[in-house]
Amino acid sequence: MSDDHDDSPIAARVRELEAVLEEKGLLDPVELDQVLEAFAHRSSPANGFRVAARAWIDSGFEKRLLEDANSALPELGLSMGGGLQPQRLQVVANTESVHNVIVCTLCSCYPLSLLGPSPTWYKSPAYRSKVVSHPREVLRQFGFTLPDDIEIQVWDATAESRYMVLPRRPANTEHLTEDELVKLVTRNGLIGTAPV
Ligand code: FE
Repeated sequence: MSDDHDDSPIAARVRELEAVLEEKGLLDPVELDQVLEAFAHRSSPANGFRVAARAWIDSGFEKRLLEDANSALPELGLSMGGGLQPQRLQVVANTESVHNVIVCTLCSCYPLSLLGPSPTWYKSPAYRSKVVSHPREVLRQFGFTLPDDIEIQVWDATAESRYMVLPRRPANTEHLTEDELVKLVTRNGLIGTAPV
């Protein structure tokens, strides 16, 4: 078996489906390859870093992002695209009193185009089952201890709805440029398992 050939039953079914769609003229295989390749190349946490940094320096963008993320992303040349069904993105902002964390308790739904491929722990049963009931404890395992007076809100993704956390802008960063702010953001910060 070659390395790039997936013999799993689901892969076989996808190939069958592709063949039927091509036969019926509903799917252009070249176009499909181009779309998937472009999507894979564009999916990176660097996109999420840019979104957070822009929201920190531009309150108008922040407002539009929190109100309707899908409409605001194109301002940075980004989108939730890629999938066959449109995914609604909701960006949830951390505040002085509320900290947000994202999870998919059912499987592993994740804002791929903004954060790149999800980390293994995000898909683990341990994280998925525990972060809802014991979020503070889970965050502590990431070395992130939140003061008791900060409420933790956990957002459970679905196939249609994805979430991304907007971390709070770190203190004493007023002098930094947008490009410098981009470097402060981490993937875990956008998931909520790190402060920034
Ligand atoms: Fe899922």
